[in-house]
Amino acid sequence: MTKERTLSIIKPDATGKNHIGEIISTFEKNGLRIVACKMTHLKQQEAEGFYAVHKERPFFKDLVGFMMTGPVLIMVLEGENAVAKNRELMGATDPKKAKVESPQSIRARFADTIDENAVHGSDSLENAKIEINYFFKPEEICERTR
Ligand code: ADP
Ligand code: MG
Repeated sequence: MTKERTLSIIKPDATGKNHIGEIISTFEKNGLRIVACKMTHLKQQEAEGFYAVHKERPFFKDLVGFMMTGPVLIMVLEGENAVAKNRELMGATDPKKAKVESPQSIRARFADTIDENAVHGSDSLENAKIEINYFFKPEEICERTR
């Protein structure tokens, strides 16, 4: 087991439905710790840059538009196997699938459609590092001292 960091975003659908607390609580109850956090309204350039890997996908424009429909909560989560653990807690990209496969997952509980699916989570350790760097300066990540 190794301690990792991963990037999580609570998307505008979930912040709008007032589910921030329940989502964070899910992370904390499952061994993930918030070591950096900011609430922001993404600008077009930020959202496009973040999802640049998807720029050829048919849903890219809608995804970027959706990510700007309201505030997002961007966090760095730390813990044992944080990348995989966060993906497990999130559930499948499509909440309909998540509701069948993992009814307790965040997307099963808080999302209804594949495009507005409550949370983002890094999909690999390599991408986690890139995504954390995209949103946070090293000094914005809080080392645990006690
Ligand atoms: P994940 O967020 O589970 O890592 P992807 O990286 O494949 O999923 O997709 C990024 C985001 O793009 C998804 O979370 C979702 O918001 C959106 N998305 C993915 N697939 C579709 C789709 N078929 N139609 C609309 N939006 C989609
Ligand atoms: Mg992804």
